[in-house]
Amino acid sequence: MSEVSHLPTIRLKPGRRARAQEGHPWVFAGEVENLLPESNNGGVAVCRDVRGKLLGSGIYNGLSQIVWRRFSPRAELLDDALFARLLGDSIGRRNGQNVCRLVWSESDRLPGLVVDRYGDVLVIQISTLAMEGRRALLARVLCEHLAPDAMVWRDDLPVRAKEGLPISAARSEPGVLEAFWLDVNGVQFLIDPLGGQKTGLYLDQREQHVLVAGYAKGRRVLDCFCNQGGFALHAARAGAARVAAMDSSADALAAGRINADRNGLKVEFMEANVFDALKPMAPGSYDLIVLDPPPFAPGKDRVEGALRGYKEINLRALKILPAGGILATYTCSHHIGYERFQDLLSEAARDTGRTVRLLHRTGQPADHPVMLNTPESEYLRGYILEVVE
Ligand code: SAH
Repeated sequence: MSEVSHLPTIRLKPGRRARAQEGHPWVFAGEVENLLPESNNGGVAVCRDVRGKLLGSGIYNGLSQIVWRRFSPRAELLDDALFARLLGDSIGRRNGQNVCRLVWSESDRLPGLVVDRYGDVLVIQISTLAMEGRRALLARVLCEHLAPDAMVWRDDLPVRAKEGLPISAARSEPGVLEAFWLDVNGVQFLIDPLGGQKTGLYLDQREQHVLVAGYAKGRRVLDCFCNQGGFALHAARAGAARVAAMDSSADALAAGRINADRNGLKVEFMEANVFDALKPMAPGSYDLIVLDPPPFAPGKDRVEGALRGYKEINLRALKILPAGGILATYTCSHHIGYERFQDLLSEAARDTGRTVRLLHRTGQPADHPVMLNTPESEYLRGYILEVVE
């Protein structure tokens, strides 16, 4: 470990409570007494509190609202050796999984770096200047550990602008990568990392696809907000009596249909707005309903409206399910915590006159780790409920 004492230093402003004092890894521009000369952007700085106590070393960028992101509690450089070690540790924690998130930013002490593994293809998102400067090193270390067939650089993400990074078309190395088939828990999915909405699949829900499929046998299943059909296809394979799936995106549905054909599974994909489509459905039309919407509350200011949205779809789903029916319901809004979500579900049950039993309270898979000092790292929460009567 290379402890150094002469690193550029930022200090927290007096009279303000910065979350970094309580262990949070971020410091905002308004929280520091001094910004550093421009030449430090993309480099490493230590941060000290008002009394001079060391808060750790972080990557620095004066162009970003978040000027400092900690990667170490000590005073040390993010040199090639430390970067390689952090990356190696991160890969090691995934225990050789073939389809997973290999690196998740702050949760793996590599702020602004996300690497997803789709078998022999790695999809890389860089959103901080410091990580941008370590691209060649990153590629080298990834090749050493995994020898991938291809690396896809998603430099088209709008979030890059927040660090002053250029936004350009996604590209792959070596050569253009065509869409390819990948086995995920025994179901084949067409992965198109150069064209897909996200990096290819909703990796954070892959364990839920399996868990929910465990309840699908003999049931009539409705997968709402299905995207490419993750829940629907697993349910069909598990022996559901019938599977329907809804999404508002024609592209996602087209991908879902291709996946269903390839797997020889029968799923009825429908283009619809879930809010409208659930309304006229007769009670008893489905025995298992999945609600996996996009984040209704991307910001704190949107929480109230989001709560109404979540309540409405859950209420409608509970009205449709018969006794013995299953509701698998999720929120991926960081600002909607378990308590709020559970309250809303209790209210929805009460308002529809249903009694529900909690079968599972779920969260993020271990490759999207929640850091207790970084509440923002927790966003995905789920409830699997059984309608008792
Ligand atoms: N369940 C999926 C992930 C869902 S992501 C999986 O496990 O892989 C959220 C999806 O909701 C996106 O595909 C988006 O197109 C869709 N969506 C957003 N708003 C919608 C609406 N009002 N009605 C139907 N689909 C919607």
